[in-house]
Amino acid sequence: MTRPTRVLIDTEALRHNLRRVREAAPDSRTMAVIKADGYGHGLLRAARAFADADAFGVACVEEGLLLRRGGFDKPIVLLEGTFEAGELGPVAANGLELVVHCAEQIDQLATVAHAPPLDVWLKVDTGMHRLGFAPGEIAAAYERLRGLAAVGEVRLMTHLGYADDPRDGRTAEQLAAFAEAAAGLEVERSAANSGGALGWPEAHLDWVRPGLALFGASPFSDGDGAALGLKPAMTFATRLIAVKRLRRGDAVGYGGTWVCPEDMPVGVAAVGYGDGYPRHARNGTPVLVNGERVPLVGRVSMDMICLDLRAQPHANLGDDVVLWGGGLPAEEVARHADTIAYELFCGITARVPIDEV
Ligand SMILES: *Cc1c(COP(=O)(O)O)cnc(C)c1O
Repeated sequence: MTRPTRVLIDTEALRHNLRRVREAAPDSRTMAVIKADGYGHGLLRAARAFADADAFGVACVEEGLLLRRGGFDKPIVLLEGTFEAGELGPVAANGLELVVHCAEQIDQLATVAHAPPLDVWLKVDTGMHRLGFAPGEIAAAYERLRGLAAVGEVRLMTHLGYADDPRDGRTAEQLAAFAEAAAGLEVERSAANSGGALGWPEAHLDWVRPGLALFGASPFSDGDGAALGLKPAMTFATRLIAVKRLRRGDAVGYGGTWVCPEDMPVGVAAVGYGDGYPRHARNGTPVLVNGERVPLVGRVSMDMICLDLRAQPHANLGDDVVLWGGGLPAEEVARHADTIAYELFCGITARVPIDEV
C-alpha cells in the first residue's frame, strides 16, 4: 500500500462555482483568478474547468506561459504586471495583459514598441495601500499610457481590502474613491474580488475578478461556501494508520501537550504539516473519520496527526479520514488554525498526489 494521503478535485464543483458567481454578477464579465497553481487545485485543471470565463488572472509571467502552452487562448492578465523590463518580450510574444501599478512599469513600456500593442489595467490604490497609483495620479498615468506605442487598450482596476466583512464601511469608501479616479475616463473598470462579487453588487462594474469563491470557499470571515451556494472542490483525505488504546494520563505527540482524560482510543492519521495540514491547528480542530467529526489532539507532526476516537470507538486501521472537503469546510478548519481557507488550499505540498473526481 502506498501512503494514502491525497487531494481530490471535483471539477464539476469548479464549473458550478463559476456559474454561481456569474449569476451573482450577471452584467459583468468574469476574470477567473487562478494564480498560485489555481489556489492549489492545479492551474491547468482550473483553467479547463473555467473555460467559460472571459479571462484568466495570474500572478506572474510563468503562470501565464503555462496557460498559453496548455492551449488557452483567452485573455490572461498578470495581476502585478511585470517585475522587470526583460519580461516584456515574453509578455508581448504571448499576448498577455499587464496590470500597471507604478511609474517604473510605465517607464519600461516606454522603452519598447510592440505590434500588436499590449492591453493594460491601470491600478488605483483606493485605500488598501498596497499596489497602485493614488487616485489623484490616475489622470496623468492614464494619459501617459495612452501616448505609448506599446500600449493598446487601457482599463482601470482597484483591489478591495475589506470585502471579507460585508458590514465594513471602508468598501464603500474604496468604491467612491475608485469612481472619482475614473471620472471622465471612457474605460472599463474592475474592483470586485470574491467578496465584492458575492457581497457588494455596487462593486461589480464591468469585470469581476473572483478567485477563492470559484474553488467553493467563502471569502467572508464567517460562514462557509455552502451558505453562499458554492460547492467545495477540494477534498484533502488520508487514512488511519494506527489506532491505540491509551490510558488515562497518557500524553500524546511532541511535547505531550494533550493528555488523555480517561482510558480511550486515539487514532493516528497519515497527514501532517509536510503535506500542508496546518501545524497551528489546535486541539479540537474537527477531522472526519468515516464521515463523522472527531477532534484533533496533540501537536501536528510533519507526517502524522492524532485524533480522539472516543466518538468512533470502532474505527480501524485503514478507515477514511478527511481533513477538509464536503461535510467539513476548509473555512472551519482554518478558523481552528488561525488562518484562512486561501492559505490551506495554497499550502498543499508537492508530495501530495492530486486526482480528479
Ligand atoms: C488574488 C486576486 C483576486 C482574487 O481574490 P479572491 O479574494 O480570491 O477572490 C482578485 N484581484 C486581484 C488583483 C488579486 O490579486
